[in-house]
Amino acid sequence: PTPVIAIDGPSASGKGTVAALVAQALGFHYLDSGSLYRLTALAALRAGIALDDEARVAALAASLPAAFVGGEILLGGEPATEAIRREECSAGASRVAALPAVRAALLERQRAYRQAPGLVADGRDMGSVVFPDAALKVFLTATAEERANRRHKQLIEKGMSANISTLLQDLQERDARDAARSVAPLQKCADAELLDTTQMSIEQAVQAVLTWYRA
Ligand code: C5P
Repeated sequence: PTPVIAIDGPSASGKGTVAALVAQALGFHYLDSGSLYRLTALAALRAGIALDDEARVAALAASLPAAFVGGEILLGGEPATEAIRREECSAGASRVAALPAVRAALLERQRAYRQAPGLVADGRDMGSVVFPDAALKVFLTATAEERANRRHKQLIEKGMSANISTLLQDLQERDARDAARSVAPLQKCADAELLDTTQMSIEQAVQAVLTWYRA
């Protein structure tokens, strides 16, 4: 079967950056599964559908008019890359992600990204639910303080204002919600390698994943 590298972990751990670079190094496809939950939340907000209306949100997720075109994410043909990163979509994504029918609606769509020569997929349940037969599973994390610091630096670089203690609190709330939900809670699979990047550069984290994969 086409090889998959599953990289799961908490918010702002840097798993997206690492996953995209690993995919690039191997010439593999890349799936940012969080963007599908973010797009679902955005589509629901735009359609005026309540984020806890499980049946209607799941129907939206099943027919999501999303496309990934050269680094740009489109929803119904319109650019959505920036909109899905806003706080209301981050919070909304973690709410719709707690609905079992929404997760079921997105399952086959995620598996469809498994194409030759291989796939690197990042999210919360890539190794546990979506690609349980992945060739390599990595649980990539860092301390909450370090993740809040990284998010802070990113926002400052974009010229946005940010408060570290607010960021830390938001992260911890989102982690708690992702870990406490009844479906696909965030947790390290028994067969996943633990990669704590608190003291690592992006390059070192990428090398660690490549070394495991090639072993
Ligand atoms: O990774 P990202 O922060 O973009 O994910 C947004 C939200 O989507 C997360 O808070 C999480 O609740 C949800 N998610 C998920 N399963 C995934 C990817 C993301 O539940 N595979």
